[in-house]
Amino acid sequence: MLILGCTSAVVVFAVGIRKRTPPPARHEPLTMADMTEVVMPLRQAPATFPRGTYRPNQRETTVSGAIDLGTFSPGRDLIYIEDDRAWWESDNDSGDIECDHTVHRSMRQPLERTIQLVAERGGTLKIQDAYRPNLVHNPKSLHKEGRAVDLTAVDMDLESVAKICWQAGFDWVYHEKGKRNNGPHIHASVAR
Ligand SMILES: [Zn+2]
Repeated sequence: MLILGCTSAVVVFAVGIRKRTPPPARHEPLTMADMTEVVMPLRQAPATFPRGTYRPNQRETTVSGAIDLGTFSPGRDLIYIEDDRAWWESDNDSGDIECDHTVHRSMRQPLERTIQLVAERGGTLKIQDAYRPNLVHNPKSLHKEGRAVDLTAVDMDLESVAKICWQAGFDWVYHEKGKRNNGPHIHASVAR
């Protein structure tokens, strides 16, 4: 039951029916607190999530809130996430001084849930960009507060990743077409 390999299992979890069943053997044993906090999808998967669309159908700043570098405090607001089930770009790029494990604390639950749900479906989530204090191209980017991540995956198509991000509780999810230097990816953000 906890291996959410089919839509019906996700729906059952999404409506909140929980049973005491053993955790899946391929993961570390989970406590009940872990299961309710990390494993359970918060929302049902949308039927489709085409490239070039976002959820909800509102501007990102309306949903996640605009950046405010005046009140943002890296020491207070940022945390470090480690999870061996995911691939972290900065661990694999020696020329990169940024750290993709560094995110806003509001990002912990949706990102951990997304890593878990992608892994349960046989994929590996790739965290391509997280906290980017020195982004020059978009001064209003939520990456500057660690409140946005850019994601791709191995062994899973991006539309499925977008659906999972939505299920996992990100406040705003964008299935981006990508630009010249930056291929298609999922940009997902959270309110502070
Ligand atoms: Zn982004």
